[in-house]
Amino acid sequence: MMGSDLAALKRYLKSKGIPSSGIKLVRDGLADEMNIKKARQFCFTEENHRTIFCAHALDWLPREARVGILLHECFHIIGHCFNEYAEICVDDNVMSHVPESGYHYRDVEYIGHLGRVRKAKAIECVSKAFLRRLDQ
Ligand SMILES: [Zn+2]
Repeated sequence: MMGSDLAALKRYLKSKGIPSSGIKLVRDGLADEMNIKKARQFCFTEENHRTIFCAHALDWLPREARVGILLHECFHIIGHCFNEYAEICVDDNVMSHVPESGYHYRDVEYIGHLGRVRKAKAIECVSKAFLRRLDQ
């Protein structure tokens, strides 16, 4: 689930010398509202907070997507990526610092509120091989 996935990711980043200490995850009502409106919106971060605010729906995603999103959000914070080029900044940082993550975008389906199937386009994902490394 999201908390243990973030813990595994932070352990991994620390083992590579990438500082992610203090990054925490909270379930957030605003993130839930954003997810209900937009199927591909799960989390957000804010400048000067080391907090990732997440919707419950993050737990309803396949793990490749959940970890991919958390990796993406971590690098908003680690890379200080909050300006108009934030998304490019994050993707460049992830690709250069954690290329072994197999970070890529793909469409993901999940079961949302009320058992409704939702299609989320272009979601950040990691490879299954990377998930196995996280669990070592
Ligand atoms: Zn982003």
